[in-house]
Amino acid sequence: MSDDSIFEHALQRLDEAAKHLNVDQDVIEKLKFPRETTKVRLMIRMDDGSRKSFVGWRCRYDDTRGPTKGGIRYHPDASSAEVETLAFWMTFKCAVMGLPYGGGKGAVQVNPRELSKAELERLSRAYIQAFARIIGPDRDIPAPDVYTNSMVMGWMADEYSQIVGQAEPAVITGKPIALGGSLGRGDATARGGYYLVRHLADELGLGQEMRVAVQGFGNAGQHIARLMVADGHRIVAVSDSHGAVASDAGLDVDKLIAAKDAGGSVVDTVGHDGHALLPAEELPGVGCDLFVPAALENMIDARNAPWLKAKVVLELANGPLTPEADQILAANGVVVLPDILANAGGVTVSYFEWVQNRHGYYWPLEEVHVRLRTIMEREGRAIWNISREKEIPMRTAAYVHALGRLAEAIEAHGTQAFFMS
Ligand code: NAD
Repeated sequence: MSDDSIFEHALQRLDEAAKHLNVDQDVIEKLKFPRETTKVRLMIRMDDGSRKSFVGWRCRYDDTRGPTKGGIRYHPDASSAEVETLAFWMTFKCAVMGLPYGGGKGAVQVNPRELSKAELERLSRAYIQAFARIIGPDRDIPAPDVYTNSMVMGWMADEYSQIVGQAEPAVITGKPIALGGSLGRGDATARGGYYLVRHLADELGLGQEMRVAVQGFGNAGQHIARLMVADGHRIVAVSDSHGAVASDAGLDVDKLIAAKDAGGSVVDTVGHDGHALLPAEELPGVGCDLFVPAALENMIDARNAPWLKAKVVLELANGPLTPEADQILAANGVVVLPDILANAGGVTVSYFEWVQNRHGYYWPLEEVHVRLRTIMEREGRAIWNISREKEIPMRTAAYVHALGRLAEAIEAHGTQAFFMS
C-alpha cells in the first residue's frame, strides 16, 4: 500500500461516520488534517565510534479533548504518513473511551535489532532531546508501541526529567513499575480486548469454549493467548514474523511464550505436543471462532479476507484490515470488533498511569482491572447499541461514537451557525 493511501483509508472512516451523525462542517474540517507533525534527524554515536543518523517524527493530531497521547514506534518502514494515520486513530480511540486526551503518535525509522542496547538507549534519549519542547504531561504524552518497551519508556522519562530539572513521570506512560509505571499496564491491551469479548459473547454468538487464532505473538498476542487459555478457551494457531504453528487440540501457550522469551520464534515449538508447522500466509484460513490480528497494519486484505472462517475478529493490532477486507468480512457475516475499541485497553491503563503519577498515589492491581473492565464494558455496550440501532458495522459505530464526542468538544468553541447568527 502506498504511503498516502493509509491516511486516505483512515479518512474514509471519518467520512463514513459523518454520514450517520449531524455534525457541523467545522468538525470535519478540523479532523481532516493533523495539527502538527515534526520531523527530526537524530544523530547518535555508535559503539564503533562512528556517527549515524535516523529520521524521527512526532505528530500531535488533535488536542481539542486534552493533551495528545500516543505511542512511539521503532520500525524500518516507519513513515510520516503512517505516523499521522496512527495519530488520527489515537484521536478517535481516546474519544471512544471517553479519555480526556487528544491523539498523537511518534516513530523512528530504525530496525532496533540492528542496534546494541547502548545504541538503543542513546537513540531513545536523542528522541527526547529532540522532542522535549513538544511533549509534556499537559501537552503530549508518549507510550510504547511496536518494538519499543517499558525500558525504552524509562530512559525517555529520565531524559525528559533531566532536561526540565525535576522528576516528571507523567510525561510518558508504559514505564517500568519501579519508575512510576502502573500495575496492569503490561497486559492491558489484551485484557481490554478480552473483557470486551467476554461482555458481548452472547450477542456475538461465541460459546463457552472458543477456538482462537492469533496473528502476531508479541505483547498483545501473547497476553491474549494467555488470558483466553486461563478462561478455558483453545488457541488453535499463532504466527509471528518467522511463521505459524497450529494444533486443533490447542497449543501449549507457555511453551510458545518460552520460545519467544528465549529470543526465538513460535515455530521453534514445532513437534512439541501436536504443534504442527503452518505456512504463515495460511493462518487466516484456520478454522476458529475468534481471529485476533495482533501484528502490523493491513495484514488482512482482499486476497486473504475470504479465507477467514471466524465468527468474530478482535483487532488488537492497529489497522490490521484494509477497507476491502472489511467489506468482504461484513458480507460474510463476520463481526469485526474494531481497533479503536478492541485495543483501547492499553491507552486506558496508560491514562490510569498518568492519573496515578499526577496524584503520587498508586492503585492495587485489582483496582486497575475493575476500572478497565468498567470502561471497556460501558463503551463496548454503547457501540454495540449504536451498531444495532443504526444497522451499521461495529467499526462505523465506534467512529460515530467517537465523532459524537469530538464534535461536542469542537462545537463547544462555536460553529459557523453560532458566529453567523
Ligand atoms: P510487538 O512488537 O510486541 O509484537 C508484534 C508481533 O508481530 C511480533 O511477534 C512479530 O513477530 C509479529 N509480526 C511481525 N510481522 C508479522 C507477520 N508478517 N506475520 C505474523 N506476525 C508478524 O508489538 P505489540 O505491542 O504486541 O503490538 C502489536 C499490534 O498491537 C500493533 O499493531 C500495535 O500498534 C498494536 N497495539 C499494541 C498495544 C500495546 O499496548 N502493546 C496497544 C495498542 C495497540
